[in-house]
Amino acid sequence: MELIPAPSPNFDARTAPPDMIVLHYTGMPTGQAALDRLRAPEAKVSAHYLVEEDGRVFSLVAEERRAWHAGVSSWKGRQNLNGTSIGIEIVNPGHEFGYRAFPEAQIAAVIELIDDIRGRWSIEDNQIVGHSDVAPDRKEDPGELFPWKRLAEAGHGFWVEVPAAPGLPLAEGETGPGVFALQAGLTRLGFDCAPSGEYEARTAAIVRAFQRHWRPGKIDGIADGETRARLIALLRLGA
Ligand SMILES: [Zn+2]
Repeated sequence: MELIPAPSPNFDARTAPPDMIVLHYTGMPTGQAALDRLRAPEAKVSAHYLVEEDGRVFSLVAEERRAWHAGVSSWKGRQNLNGTSIGIEIVNPGHEFGYRAFPEAQIAAVIELIDDIRGRWSIEDNQIVGHSDVAPDRKEDPGELFPWKRLAEAGHGFWVEVPAAPGLPLAEGETGPGVFALQAGLTRLGFDCAPSGEYEARTAAIVRAFQRHWRPGKIDGIADGETRARLIALLRLGA
């Protein structure tokens, strides 16, 4: 695909080849403002790519280099994921400046870009995640409007839908074996959610992150029957 060079100085050396993709939204009023910031030496942030709402794709950091996009992060037992991930910034003002739907041209470009990246590196479907998945208590991007279902239909990542799922909801403040099992399942999926049997604020944040990605209809941090059924279905799929 056609890439527009927009080099950023904000990178250093990798220690291993990339095996995951982290998707972000820019969270700034305009795409240009985000591009400027991701290229400013003093900002000390970057990404490998930035995808504009009209589908233009800017190349900021070579895939062989470590870009600085994920910060403190964890997935499938590994920490600080910049070293092993490719970061894609998707232009959207985000929850702070007017969160809105991602245009078709932009999503088509993201899918083509991921197609290309996976042709170059070994990246499993369960290693294609959002920033909020790897930093659930700090981040909300790319958020519940990002079409993860569409991405999965294009062959990237996992998506499940389940029939109406009864079951008592679990919520913050509860304790017991149901909470322990929920935390174990979230950990298996990839979240840093060590099972304690206590549904504390961090577990609620992780459930919200799960919902933003896999149950976008309702994001409330409460593990209701549908949320838990989708988690189980994902694990059965091999996610
Ligand atoms: Zn982000």
